[in-house]
Amino acid sequence: MRVLLLGGTTEARRLAGMIAGEVTVITSLAGRTRDPLLPAGEVRIGGFGGVDGLAGYLPEQRIDAVVDATHPFAAAISENAFRACAATGVPLMILRRPGWTAGPGDEWHRVASLPEAATVLPRLGRRVFLTTGRQGLACFAGLDECWFLARSVEPPAPPVPRRLEVLLDRGPFTVAGERDLITRHRLDVLVTKDSGGADAKLVAARELGVPVLMVDRPPLPDAASVSTPDAAARWLRVLRR
Ligand code: NAP
Repeated sequence: MRVLLLGGTTEARRLAGMIAGEVTVITSLAGRTRDPLLPAGEVRIGGFGGVDGLAGYLPEQRIDAVVDATHPFAAAISENAFRACAATGVPLMILRRPGWTAGPGDEWHRVASLPEAATVLPRLGRRVFLTTGRQGLACFAGLDECWFLARSVEPPAPPVPRRLEVLLDRGPFTVAGERDLITRHRLDVLVTKDSGGADAKLVAARELGVPVLMVDRPPLPDAASVSTPDAAARWLRVLRR
């Protein structure tokens, strides 16, 4: 069995590690990160060339199943996978880790998009911890009244906010480290996407009483989905029978 695993997430790497001994797994990465953490099995890097490119790749590479384990905010590749699988009849499973839920002590403000976050932000704080990734920075470029500490894996490209400090770093992060960062920079609001997974910054924000501007996920394509690598591996085993 040949499985195309659309990756770029911890869950995709975990799943590749789980199934690499049982099936031929080809993890596909977009190629955005210069030094990506590589999974078990085969790896290909770069876009497919839209829906048509992917719909051509699937039969060409004799792919029997696709697992879309991309990031919850990578909406374009998920839509492309959905349409290419529908066009070629290749079974598709979406693997998405669960989103975050506010608990006691959290002050969260949910918005539907990054542009909406930029509109709401100045009402919540002026010293901003921005963790929405380098590609989202442009949305905040006009907010001269705010100062930003933006954390990303790769350096951002313009346009970016005028008052900006960039922190190049890749998780996992600790609650103590996040608390220290927020305190040291006197950050008074956190902006994040509802990515799910490890949540040290959210715990630190709760402990310090810092409000959180939470950007909701884009909707999933209308396909079957699971929330853990285990469940995706089970689906593949059933398909193989
Ligand atoms: P996107 O907007 O959904 O995708 C844009 C284009 O990039 C796609 O149309 C596709 O090009 C290519 N692409 C994306 N993921 C790919 C993959 N796994 N393999 C091959 N091509 C891929 O995606 P994005 O938000 O830029 O994210 C890119 C990658 O980074 C994803 O794999 C995602 O899992 C990972 N990531 C994203 C975020 C985030 O916040 N968005 C965070 C962490 C990791 P073609 O149309 O040419 O095929």
